[in-house]
Amino acid sequence: MEDAVLETLCATAESFYQRGYAFGSTGNISVRAGDRVWITPTGKSLQGLNPGQLACVDLDGNSLNENRPSKEFPFHLAVYTRRADVRAVVHLHTLHSVALSCLEEFDEENPLPPLTPYYFMRVAPLAVLPYFRPGSAGLAEAVGAAAPRHNCMLLRNHGVVCAGSTLSEAVDRTEELEQTARLHFLLRGERTRLLTPEQVEELKKTFG
Ligand code: ZN
Repeated sequence: MEDAVLETLCATAESFYQRGYAFGSTGNISVRAGDRVWITPTGKSLQGLNPGQLACVDLDGNSLNENRPSKEFPFHLAVYTRRADVRAVVHLHTLHSVALSCLEEFDEENPLPPLTPYYFMRVAPLAVLPYFRPGSAGLAEAVGAAAPRHNCMLLRNHGVVCAGSTLSEAVDRTEELEQTARLHFLLRGERTRLLTPEQVEELKKTFG
């Protein structure tokens, strides 16, 4: 059972890399199995990983195998310890989402306009977290504080964090967020038909 989950984690990492969602040695993905968290290793590309290279830590951050976890593991643990329902966390530096996170003009309540229903089904409400140094305790604290109310977070000048009750749910959310950010930039300067407040309200009632 756990072996299959770890194989899927590696295949997911490979898929993100091949499709340009991850590049270089950026990005990290974790899954929770009981009280153990399996996470991609530090300093390694998401390309070509096998289960034997994954790091395993407990919920206090103690290493349970010889592989060193991504330096971002504290914020993965911050999500798991606050959300018993979460079984997977994805963190990537996806291009359009990072571009969004770097904009100076920013509506922190509604960082993206209501373009499609899928944003509301998979992403909203999107939290916006201030900039923290990657790997810092402050970043883990901020992610943990947002986790009870948000499955998706935009880290200022950095990237995204998406949580799910399964790995595929966390992946769907990450991809939908990136796709919505991409649409947002494609449409900037175009006259755009947004969803109406009534349509947004209906989606929030149904999927919120
Ligand atoms: Zn990062």
